[in-house]
Amino acid sequence: MRIEAVEAFYLSMPKVEDIGDGSQDMLLYRVSAGDYRGWGESEAAPLVSIAALVCPMSHSACRPVLDSVLGETIESPDDIPRIVRQVRAKSLDVLQAPHALSGIEIALWDLLGKARQQPVYELLGYKRAEPKVAYASALFGDEPQATLQKAKKLRSEGFRAAKFGWGPYGRTTAEADAQQVQAAREGLGQEADLLVDAGTVWVNDIEAATLRLPALEEARVLWLEEPFVSEEVDSYMELSKRCRGVLRLAGGEGAHNPHMAYHLIQQGGIGYVQIDAGRIGGISEASRVVERAHASGVQYVNHTFTSQLALSASLQPFAGAETDWLCEYPVEATPLARNVTRTAIAVDATGKVRAPEGAGLGLELNLDAVRQYLLDVEIEVGGRVLYRTPELVP
Ligand SMILES: [Mg+2]
Repeated sequence: MRIEAVEAFYLSMPKVEDIGDGSQDMLLYRVSAGDYRGWGESEAAPLVSIAALVCPMSHSACRPVLDSVLGETIESPDDIPRIVRQVRAKSLDVLQAPHALSGIEIALWDLLGKARQQPVYELLGYKRAEPKVAYASALFGDEPQATLQKAKKLRSEGFRAAKFGWGPYGRTTAEADAQQVQAAREGLGQEADLLVDAGTVWVNDIEAATLRLPALEEARVLWLEEPFVSEEVDSYMELSKRCRGVLRLAGGEGAHNPHMAYHLIQQGGIGYVQIDAGRIGGISEASRVVERAHASGVQYVNHTFTSQLALSASLQPFAGAETDWLCEYPVEATPLARNVTRTAIAVDATGKVRAPEGAGLGLELNLDAVRQYLLDVEIEVGGRVLYRTPELVP
């Protein structure tokens, strides 16, 4: 099959707020080859990514992403990493290229799975999809009381694990943060697994992060996520040495290539590596991190805060890995992210999920439900239209 078309759709909620919720807009892709269509989603600022797809060549390592994809053949799983390598080489100096590429790469796996009538995890070599504990991923409430109520609700919905992050956490005092963590633990109950996401709030301030450790250890929090920005690898390592009990550091969602994740695994002292297939360059790039994590005794976890389509994509790389037992499960996504699929990955009675068994990503889209969020975009350079919003149809 030849890749004949790559269509990018910029969807957005009518109002995008200044909060840590990446589901407020969406870069959705439809890729066509032969009789098949594949769908994928990037975790990225949509318009900048569309620019990376179509920007005029600036020099030989600054080419538009689509130049490396359109017209390529796709017959086997090996063709996908080949296309990824080509994009990496020819768009080396286009910094948004990996973000733009990720959704296309995911759509190629979806397409190939549909062509072969196999789920993506089988194409990756797994025999079956293992059950994983779904952790509900939520933002801290503005006040501890709001966090307590959120945690109680998640518990009543059957979640055995939950993560709270962003919001006010890390922005005032260690005492205020301790109250937030205690509220989360109280609401979830003593048995549930509790995780905390600092959302890079301390940038590289090791001492500020250290002040929060006693409350996290007391609440038996499994991980403190992203205390620092991804490239502050030395700060991660220093803080990791100060963690006691079950507490470990987690990070990696910011990785837009496998090497960024390798650095955190090998020099950052993290216990959990969290990868978003929609940002790192796709499912094949995420799979490279799975291998490295296993070789290093680090647990692999998906990063997903948006749609079920993104969840399925980020589950595939570790779907069959028995030792990686946790799965981030979005519970606060916007109507856009919630409604883009007609089907969902259900949390079972034991609080677990597994990758869908259907072909490709195994989910059915509901384009009629999200067409209202599609934005009209036109990019014109020197009188030539490089991009115009395509029609959102199956
Ligand atoms: Mg996070």
